[in-house]
Amino acid sequence: MAVKTIRHISDPVLRRKTKRVLKIDKSVLQLVEDMMDTLEQSDGAGLAAPQIGLSLRVAVLWMPEQEPFAIINPEVVKRIGEREVEEGCLSLPGYQGKIKRAVSVTVKCLDIEGKPLRIRAKELLAQALEHEIDHLNGILFTDHLESPDKLYKLEPKPAEQSTEENTKTSPVIGGTNHSGQESTHAV
Ligand SMILES: [Zn+2]
Repeated sequence: MAVKTIRHISDPVLRRKTKRVLKIDKSVLQLVEDMMDTLEQSDGAGLAAPQIGLSLRVAVLWMPEQEPFAIINPEVVKRIGEREVEEGCLSLPGYQGKIKRAVSVTVKCLDIEGKPLRIRAKELLAQALEHEIDHLNGILFTDHLESPDKLYKLEPKPAEQSTEENTKTSPVIGGTNHSGQESTHAV
């Protein structure tokens, strides 16, 4: 198990264009394994090779309640529609932004065995594919922000505050909590 350090948004490696994988050899398999291990330790749905310092067209995706998988040399070949999404990045912990992503995408790539794959995806998977393939092109989600005020710092989760009081009060959905602030919930 090799958990790698995730590079921060200011690291120049995140801005470099990545090289195509010419052969899926032992070193690529090792890279994918390390990326899966690193992703498992974090709270993300995907990770691209530059995020652990390698300029190679490899990304891994891990959707909730699904098996993780790797994509090699991926390209987005079709984008349909546009929608506003909330997005974050493991290279910029503690922040989220509102950006526009496609409603659905088609991605061409190779799987871990070198077989050509065509992935048609929508919703979270489409968003994650666009995000990771952006990384392979040196693009960060913050590049898609229409204005800086669309990026905001995440508030600490209520679970990190004193729980004693919370156990006595029933959960409030969509109203106001005891501190008078509007409660928000993740979707
Ligand atoms: Zn990212």
